[in-house]
Amino acid sequence: MACTLCPRSCGADRASRPGFCGLGEEMLIARIAPHLWEEPPVSGRNGTGAVFFSGCTLRCVYCQNAEISHHNAGRVFSPRELSDALKRLADLGVHTISLITATPFIPRILDTLELWRPPLPLVWNTSGYETVETLRMLDGVIDVYLPDLKHFSSRAGRLCAGAPDYFEYASAALQEMCRQTGPAVYGEDGIMRRGVLVRHLILPGFTAESMKLLTWIRDTLPDGTPVSLMRQYTPCNDVSVPGLDRKVSEKEYRRVRDHMLALELPGFLQEPDSADVDFIPVFNRESSFV
Ligand code: SF4
Repeated sequence: MACTLCPRSCGADRASRPGFCGLGEEMLIARIAPHLWEEPPVSGRNGTGAVFFSGCTLRCVYCQNAEISHHNAGRVFSPRELSDALKRLADLGVHTISLITATPFIPRILDTLELWRPPLPLVWNTSGYETVETLRMLDGVIDVYLPDLKHFSSRAGRLCAGAPDYFEYASAALQEMCRQTGPAVYGEDGIMRRGVLVRHLILPGFTAESMKLLTWIRDTLPDGTPVSLMRQYTPCNDVSVPGLDRKVSEKEYRRVRDHMLALELPGFLQEPDSADVDFIPVFNRESSFV
């Protein structure tokens, strides 16, 4: 069947040949393990049960997880195998289950959740490059959306991900996510039970983009939508885009942070010492699976 699950809408029959994302129909997964380094309402004290799916529909040139997003490292899981892994994660006491860059596998994930639905908030961790039609398949399934909002201009989308339509899709997608979940709801433990938490990674040389995106969030998304402002960009690949070969400067970070504070957006600011390659998880080891 012609795949149109993501905005690339490449129409590949993935049963016989992979599409733009390079993925067949079976779930390919790079890591399943507790993960402590998401935002506090997702990770809490014990971590989120993170399922890192292989491949990506956006494939940013600067991706810090290129081994799995560009090169599709991982191993095949059946719905039954993933269901069993989710049970093991829940038994470890994680607060939430995070499905990370999972869009190409939505049909298999829905099969998995038919077998067993974790009694924990289900988090959809995404680049934000989603179609509204595909997100509607998740309506009533996903409790918490954790989307990135990366680029405002078509120029930045094209340069950084070959996706000049990134903002067109992501802006509609985030509004659909907010419609589905309603306002953020937290438990007494501070863990998000429902809602949307928007992430934005500041890129060196692109602070004007960051500021436009933060203003768009304030003007468009429901009041109280939390934002996580991240500064950990670390050059990892041979990136040809000017400026992306360095970290974000202190001056750039302060400029964007001050804009977020002036807009009175609630949320999180990342600590300076997170801007280090040491924080990037290592994938494709046997120890990567619970
Ligand atoms: S999920 Fe993959 S195969 Fe499907 S439309 Fe997107 S890039 Fe093409």
